[in-house]
Amino acid sequence: MKFLCLACDQAMEFAERQLPGDGTLAAVFGCPTCGREIAMLANPMETQLVSSLGIKVGGREVPEQPLELVRSSLAEGRPDAFLDDSAPANPSAVQGPVTWSDDAVQRLSHVPTFVRGMVKRIYTDYARERGIERITPEIMDTARTDLGLEGM
Ligand SMILES: [Zn+2]
Repeated sequence: MKFLCLACDQAMEFAERQLPGDGTLAAVFGCPTCGREIAMLANPMETQLVSSLGIKVGGREVPEQPLELVRSSLAEGRPDAFLDDSAPANPSAVQGPVTWSDDAVQRLSHVPTFVRGMVKRIYTDYARERGIERITPEIMDTARTDLGLEGM
């Protein structure tokens, strides 16, 4: 993936990459000629997809090993690959298990198998960080809006 500076007709160079704790990925590219900069932002879902596919943002800046671990988990197709509950992102988060209503499980079953564990993890993290103990289709709707995942 490359970005082109239209004014200079020159490929921009990767300048900076940030992974804030919320899962958002920001990559900055700059034009070596005029110094103009652009930033690429990806929401948590997009970040996980990009990471899972092993795409190297800005060359080799992304460490390879963790991505390959994610990728091999995906290749095995284990639906529970991302359900490790050991590290809640938010210290004030609910510690108990987040449960899923029957209709929420039903809706999750429509998600393609290879990303289902990831999607489930995203919703579970969302619920846990907000003290929500039970995920329903309504919670999933709210989460999608909050996380910018519409259309997924
Ligand atoms: Zn330029």
